[in-house]
Amino acid sequence: MTFKATSKIEFIDLKRQFMAYKEDILARMHPVMEDARFILGSEINELEQTLSAYVNMPYALAVASGTDALLIPLMAAGVKPGDEVITTPFTFIATAEVIQFLGAKPVFVDVDPDTCLIDVTKIERVLNANTKAIIGVSLYGQMADMQAIGDIADKYGLLSIEDGAQSFGASNKFGRSCGVSKVGATSFFPSKPFGCFGDGGMVFFQDEELFKRSRMIRIHGQDKRYIHDILGINGRMDTLQAAILLGKWPHFQDEVEKRQALGDYYRKSLRKIEGVKILDIKPGNTHVYGQMTIRVKLRDELVKYLNSKQIPTAVHYPRPLHLQPVFAHLGYHAGDFPDSECVASEVLSLPFHPFLQTEEVDYIADQIQFFFKGI
Ligand SMILES: *Cc1c(COP(=O)(O)O)cnc(C)c1O
Repeated sequence: MTFKATSKIEFIDLKRQFMAYKEDILARMHPVMEDARFILGSEINELEQTLSAYVNMPYALAVASGTDALLIPLMAAGVKPGDEVITTPFTFIATAEVIQFLGAKPVFVDVDPDTCLIDVTKIERVLNANTKAIIGVSLYGQMADMQAIGDIADKYGLLSIEDGAQSFGASNKFGRSCGVSKVGATSFFPSKPFGCFGDGGMVFFQDEELFKRSRMIRIHGQDKRYIHDILGINGRMDTLQAAILLGKWPHFQDEVEKRQALGDYYRKSLRKIEGVKILDIKPGNTHVYGQMTIRVKLRDELVKYLNSKQIPTAVHYPRPLHLQPVFAHLGYHAGDFPDSECVASEVLSLPFHPFLQTEEVDYIADQIQFFFKGI
């Protein structure tokens, strides 16, 4: 091992990113502030147009967060108490939270432990007359099998939604993340692949009616000012966040390519280490590594060891949703989703961002190898 970490390895390096694009970002922010276009300024529409063209969807709606990007289309589709929405228990809380928030019931389907994505072969078993929608989660940055999910949804007249919060910029052989389902939802939380400087999200729609209802819901259920036709929320994205994203946009495709190259390099470096299981990439998928996540036994010990070597790590996610107190009333038990429970005990996310150096990856891989050799 020749590399010595001279500067601290960041889990995600947002400071380096800002310094690299500073002029472009500030150039887009200044006019917003000078003209005080803080709420629904023209940058919102510009961002919607730019990103709907990118993912190849006819309609886009900028919203206040990735959570609202999931909530709003479910509200627009009329999901209500008594309804059921299918998703995976191995995801961030927001995916299932929005279902329960509307009084509907989250119904879980286990994941494929090799990818941590929903096992589509198990979806039809839990369908019933109350099922209204299926949410596939493109966890860690590669797309869930949204084509198969869309086929099931079409067959039974359901809404298909991609939770693409971690996968903006990824693709499969049918198109880009957020662009192949009836609804695609993403997040611009700072640490996501396309991040703003606070909270933000976007919903993409194939259907004009669902888009129009969602647009009303975003602004208190109104179409005309102060006339409220339906129940809405304050779900708008700040103009400043749209301006920041537009300032970063010219660099995004380059970042996606860097992510893929660095991801390949990481996988090659880790593959030779006994004790590390690398997650599969499905044929035809490109991956943006919203997280660089591996599976290991002895995770707690490895985390401690890596921390002692100044390597930060994270666990996405330590407890599957069917075992969360907030969902206890659903009546699920330990053992109901063995693959989700297994991966939750093994997954470990390593430092990853487009500015990470290959020497830093070498250092991280070497330290992991030392750990497993020493035990
Ligand atoms: C981050 C995330 C969300 C929520 O996005 P926010 O912008 O934080 O509200 C939803 N689903 C998944 C899978 C996420 O990773």
